[in-house]
Amino acid sequence: MNPVYSIVVPCYNEEACIAETHARLTAVMTGMGESYEILYINDGSRDQTAPMLDALAAQDLHVRVIHFARNAGHQIAVSAGLDYAAGQAVVIIDADLQDPPEVIPQMAARWKAGVQVVYGQRNSREGESKFKELTAKWYYRLLRNLAGDVFPKDTGDFRLVDRAVVDVVKNMPEHARYLRGMFAWAGFKQEALLYDRDKRFAGETHYPLRKMLRLAANGVLSFSEKPLLWPLWAGIIFLLVAGAMAVKTVITHFLGWDTAFSAMHLLIVLSTGLILTSLGILGAYLARVYEEVKGRPLYVVARTQGFDKQPPLPPGTKIKA
Ligand code: UDP
Ligand code: MG
Repeated sequence: MNPVYSIVVPCYNEEACIAETHARLTAVMTGMGESYEILYINDGSRDQTAPMLDALAAQDLHVRVIHFARNAGHQIAVSAGLDYAAGQAVVIIDADLQDPPEVIPQMAARWKAGVQVVYGQRNSREGESKFKELTAKWYYRLLRNLAGDVFPKDTGDFRLVDRAVVDVVKNMPEHARYLRGMFAWAGFKQEALLYDRDKRFAGETHYPLRKMLRLAANGVLSFSEKPLLWPLWAGIIFLLVAGAMAVKTVITHFLGWDTAFSAMHLLIVLSTGLILTSLGILGAYLARVYEEVKGRPLYVVARTQGFDKQPPLPPGTKIKA
């Protein structure tokens, strides 16, 4: 029998958090009184995370552990969790207790009310620098501008997702995975649940600026092709300016003024315009290629109706034995 809930917990060098995280998750899940499994994905940890998770699996029937052969990154670890999860609803939660497990019952209540993706939206960010808060805010604004406002703001990966939506995201073959974007892309009934993000329970972040930037770039590059077209717009502006300059050059020429200087400028602006425009055209084709290569489904069906019915036979039809 498949459990009602699967909890997916990516872990990278989390020896200081695991015992506490497991205790709090277990308390919350036991309190909910339905079947559950907890999947810990050991993302190539180099500390005591692996033996600690194995010990948990040995003593607790709810625990499953997936050990990666090397560090593959948070988004990939969560993707593996989605692949292995058997529950009707899957909860994605960090191992460091920044996402409080106590919020899960509220998410589950919304799920039972028919919401298929309940994503945690941060009310406040405890213990995070002004820098991170500000850059995150700007980033989400940029992303919403580029990719359309299906992307909710102040939202990480902490969420409860219905089996139907998990199956859609599992079947998206793209390698550059920006899961929160992929869930938003899938559609279905989605709703925010406000929560207060806590401080990390112990240890330190495994998201240094470098990884953060890569994730941020994935968000933009996987969900918007607008940047590829920027040179096209710039090129068109240059060409328009070149046109105006050409008119001016011709006029000053016939008035007998010295035109050598402005003709030179005209050439520079014109050739810049041509180069940028051709880059933009390349970009436009590249955007197509990229769109195809991502191999996403054309559409996502939430449900169908009436396909299991037999159409009635016209009156008078003879039925063969
Ligand atoms: N994580 C992971 N692989 C990585 C980096 C992080 O599985 O390469 C996990 C980590 O153990 C934690 C979650 O992803 O459960 C979020 O990471 P972290 O708390 O370090 O990031 P932050 O909350 O500071 O953004
Ligand atoms: Mg964290």
